[in-house]
Amino acid sequence: MDYEQILKERNLSLTSVRLAVLEALEQHPHSEAGVLFKIVHKKIKTTSKQAIYNNLNMMVEHGIIREIKPKGQPSLYETKVGDNHHHIVCRSCQKVMDTDCHSLAPCLSPKISHGFVIDEAEVTFWGTCPSCQKSKGDKNEQH
Ligand SMILES: [Zn+2]
Ligand SMILES: [Zn+2]
Repeated sequence: MDYEQILKERNLSLTSVRLAVLEALEQHPHSEAGVLFKIVHKKIKTTSKQAIYNNLNMMVEHGIIREIKPKGQPSLYETKVGDNHHHIVCRSCQKVMDTDCHSLAPCLSPKISHGFVIDEAEVTFWGTCPSCQKSKGDKNEQH
């Protein structure tokens, strides 16, 4: 994706930290700020955790990235915006996967909208991922 263009369109300056955060997010979707900081810090030693937080918040506000917050987890970020996709979260290892809304949630066309014009639905599906299903029974194993 051309983030330089995306930032420009929103009158945001292109900083090396912003670009590095976006690149890290593209490679590691659904990452938390701490993980992103570690990745970005490898490239840009002068950056701080606070700078990462500030940039993440700012880019969420501008709709460049999306923030999701499954219960029990810190905020997770991703660059996939505007497609109203949903998330499947593993109860055991907290792994997060994307899913399109149509296949799993046909109930998402609300019959009663109370006069609202609805443009987004936020759904989190909870379950057990394949690797956790395999390791079920061994409580000491993380994955
Ligand atoms: Zn799992
Ligand atoms: Zn996602």
